[in-house]
Amino acid sequence: MNTTPSWEQDRHQLNQKIEALRKRGICYSCHDLATGLIFGQQAPIYEDDQFKVVLDPYPRMLGHTIVVYKPHREDISELSVEEARSLFQLCLHVVNALKAALHAEKVYLNTMCDGSINHVHIQLFPRYAGDPIGSKRFVLPRGPLENGEELASQIRYALLPIVERQEL
Ligand SMILES: [Zn+2]
Repeated sequence: MNTTPSWEQDRHQLNQKIEALRKRGICYSCHDLATGLIFGQQAPIYEDDQFKVVLDPYPRMLGHTIVVYKPHREDISELSVEEARSLFQLCLHVVNALKAALHAEKVYLNTMCDGSINHVHIQLFPRYAGDPIGSKRFVLPRGPLENGEELASQIRYALLPIVERQEL
């Protein structure tokens, strides 16, 4: 009997798709931005010509968010100073939106993009009142995304006025 939860099977399939692309020398993120075939329909928190902000499909906690810089860069070391400025500024806005929309006490920021063929992205991990403080939050167990559309729209509603006030 197969007792693996269906979301774990889905995640395994997603990882297999990414690995298959890597073996062919194709960036999974660029491929998804062009076709939508990797992550499928994701409710966007924010999207423009340069950036896409979405909820992680297998979050480590409520509001686990991914900020993608669309042009292909392997990791943050390949960003120009101007690109880094824009990316970090957007992250700042999303952090404040997560605090406002979800009442996060703090939001941790992480980027790795290690291993073969990667694409620069930033992960944001909210911490809520009563959660333990510290780096263990970076490796909390994943789970399925629940009410993703509603959650994304809550964060988007908090983010848009911040972006409009401060201009990217
Ligand atoms: Zn790419």
